[in-house]
Amino acid sequence: MTLPGQLNPTPRILLGPGPSNAHPRVLRAMGTPLIGHLDPEFIGIMEDVKSMLQQVFRTQNSLTFPVSATGSAGMEAVLTNLLEPGDDALICVNGVFGNRMADIVERLGATLHRVDAPWGEMIEPTQVEEALAKCKPKVVAIVHAETSTGVLQPLEKVGQLATNAGALFLVDAVTSLGGTDVRVDDWGIDAIYSGTQKCLSAPPGLAPVSFSEHAVEKIRSRKTKVQSWYLDTTMLINYWSGEKRAYHHTAPITSVYALYEALRIVLEEGLENRFERHLRNHELLKNGLEELGFKFLVREGYRLPMLNSVVLPEGFDDAEIRKILLEKYNIEVGAGLGEFAGKVWRIGLMGYGSNENHVNCLLSALRQVL
Ligand SMILES: *Cc1c(COP(=O)(O)O)cnc(C)c1O
Repeated sequence: MTLPGQLNPTPRILLGPGPSNAHPRVLRAMGTPLIGHLDPEFIGIMEDVKSMLQQVFRTQNSLTFPVSATGSAGMEAVLTNLLEPGDDALICVNGVFGNRMADIVERLGATLHRVDAPWGEMIEPTQVEEALAKCKPKVVAIVHAETSTGVLQPLEKVGQLATNAGALFLVDAVTSLGGTDVRVDDWGIDAIYSGTQKCLSAPPGLAPVSFSEHAVEKIRSRKTKVQSWYLDTTMLINYWSGEKRAYHHTAPITSVYALYEALRIVLEEGLENRFERHLRNHELLKNGLEELGFKFLVREGYRLPMLNSVVLPEGFDDAEIRKILLEKYNIEVGAGLGEFAGKVWRIGLMGYGSNENHVNCLLSALRQVL
């Protein structure tokens, strides 16, 4: 057997639904030599990561830390810690990720109640209100930025309805965090999870989570153990905070370095500036794409600035043109999922990747191809 060549993938411009291009400073931080996961200096780095995460989530929640796995593990962590077998859960579904939450709820042995909206549309608060009149769930869960469709879900009203019904309010902020406003405390969010490879511009590998005091009380008063040993916050907390810093699992040191630098970059730019930049580049892309005959899937006012879902022009060969973009121009865009396969593209402008140069590269490549 001959030894495979040195690792040398072609540099790509990642304009899909994630991962997005990591910031060069984040990649450099990942070359930092390892230290032990219980080294006092590493504990200091963990403390900084937690406090920077609190700022980015806009929360005072002390149980705020990154789970050692991708965004889906954040989803599973939030649901598995808050639900016990037989509990009722109301899940809002208008795309792939709402469906994934529903799947996890069933696997946990909880009772699933669903509110469905067509893909490409938001969940209306009245739908949640009607569902809450028929069941008394322990949690109400919703996706803030549905990456499968490009819908930005307004959260405040749904959060109020959940709270008034005595339920915990759970939010998926995997794609929204770092790209559009996420206000955990102001919006009454009890548990939230995100991922590092979307608008935070670090590689995939960690899932920042945050739990309110109310959620922590619910976890403490569980009758059964959290089903997942790995994701059990009652044990993880002894590693991520407190005096003892007991070994639970070996933290992925390099991923924590990456998140540390990614969060520094977010806060250095400033949240408002960052959201404004995402909007500006979304507008720029929108104008160019509309000139080329693409139409936005989602109605105005509910579009994600970091994930543009566009309906392809008539006669446009989805797979062929994505192939040319990738092979000739080194640009990756996302295909449509489910009923949108072959008809829709998902064009990500996430975090570091949301810049004028990327927009211009894609638009000029498309002009040439068409
Ligand atoms: C990407 C994504 C996830 C899953 O994250 P992974 O890192 O792929 O596990 C969950 N929810 C939303 C909204 C996402 O965009």
